[in-house]
Amino acid sequence: MEKRGDKSIDLPMGIEKKVAETIKKYSLVSEGDKIVVALSGGKDSTSILYILKKLGYDVHGLLIDLHLGEWSKIHNNNMIKFCEELEIPLTIVDLKKELGQGICFIKAVLKKQKNFTGCTVCGIIKRWILNKWAKKLWADKLVTGHNLDDEAQNVLMNFLKGNVLLGVNSSPATGGKAVEGFAQRIKPLFFVPESEIRKYAKAKKFDILYDKCPCAFGTYRVETREWMRGISDIEKKKIVENFQKLVPKLRTENVFELKTCKECGEPSSGEICNACKIFACLK
Ligand code: SF4
Ligand SMILES: [Zn+2]
Repeated sequence: MEKRGDKSIDLPMGIEKKVAETIKKYSLVSEGDKIVVALSGGKDSTSILYILKKLGYDVHGLLIDLHLGEWSKIHNNNMIKFCEELEIPLTIVDLKKELGQGICFIKAVLKKQKNFTGCTVCGIIKRWILNKWAKKLWADKLVTGHNLDDEAQNVLMNFLKGNVLLGVNSSPATGGKAVEGFAQRIKPLFFVPESEIRKYAKAKKFDILYDKCPCAFGTYRVETREWMRGISDIEKKKIVENFQKLVPKLRTENVFELKTCKECGEPSSGEICNACKIFACLK
């Protein structure tokens, strides 16, 4: 396992401990679970795949080739090498084969037709593909690399949008088996700050890109991330933990029934899921 020049000294080894504690505290994984890890090729998902493998879980990598030019090619190659070295099975889903187009084209169509900007469209499509493929791979759990910074940004963004309820499902274990046959989404890095993951990935010498996605500009999330730069990890933790205290109350007062989409059968809050609404624009 320690093939990449593991420097056990001075590593933020707390990460592995925090992940193990979060898994235990929130009962994220049951014995014998097959865990599919959604990979982006970045530090967060690569680190969590590595840690879960190290902790002895049955992991499988799942990467979507978004066709973002050289950036995607490098990510794909890095993840193929990484998974080969650690003997982790990897599935790469080709967006062009799935939907007939790369993400840039899809985003441009949606911008023209619906004036959707930023990462919304990409996020919805990725979620849809991950759910579909997690099911195909018989996953019990679908892991994403969301970290403490992402969660703190979510809390503040929802608050600033005036819709705190958007965070009602915020938790290290989202979704759940509310819809039979779907892998539960889990976020074992929920309480780990991005700065610690960066240090960890660098110390482990993971062969990954630290550059931002070429399409990630002008989004509300990017602006929020910039704006939060001055906030310490301790404050971010307080934002996330204090919001977590509110979540059970929000859930009892606001019951959201999860349905299945009439078009594709994937989980949805409405009759037709957001992904199918996007697909309709591409026809
Ligand atoms: S940053 Fe935005 S556009 Fe780029 S991969 Fe992520 S969601 Fe998609
Ligand atoms: Zn649908």
